[in-house]
Amino acid sequence: MLITDNFSLEELTRTATGLPNRPGKTETEKLLLTATYLLEPVRKKWGMIRVTSAFRSEAVNARVNGSGTSQHVKGEAADIVPVDADIDEVFGWIAKDGSICFGQAIREAKNGADWIHLSLPRINGPNQQRLVYDGRGYSPYV
Ligand SMILES: [Zn+2]
Repeated sequence: MLITDNFSLEELTRTATGLPNRPGKTETEKLLLTATYLLEPVRKKWGMIRVTSAFRSEAVNARVNGSGTSQHVKGEAADIVPVDADIDEVFGWIAKDGSICFGQAIREAKNGADWIHLSLPRINGPNQQRLVYDGRGYSPYV
């Protein structure tokens, strides 16, 4: 079921863990906001993007060693990989263009995999936080 022009609920709840991963009503509404305000603008500017992880149930999040306070559990975050565009170019645009309001934009790389973590703004901030994660720790994106 498409929830926006280009993103389906299935795509935003997919997990390779085999564990149950069904969002509640609140999380589903947050996934709609994630797709509308974070994913669609990137898709519009850069073409197709692959969502590697969006919503995670508590069990899924624990299995993938996600942070206990991960916005993925709330449906407020998505990990994405551009299909045709250069990931660093896309991340630079997200970080610096200013047209997307986000909580965190993180350029992540771990075990040979590369992705961009994007999350919705948070009530208690900090927001528009731009970070790089190298598999060991976080540093500011400059
Ligand atoms: Zn993430």
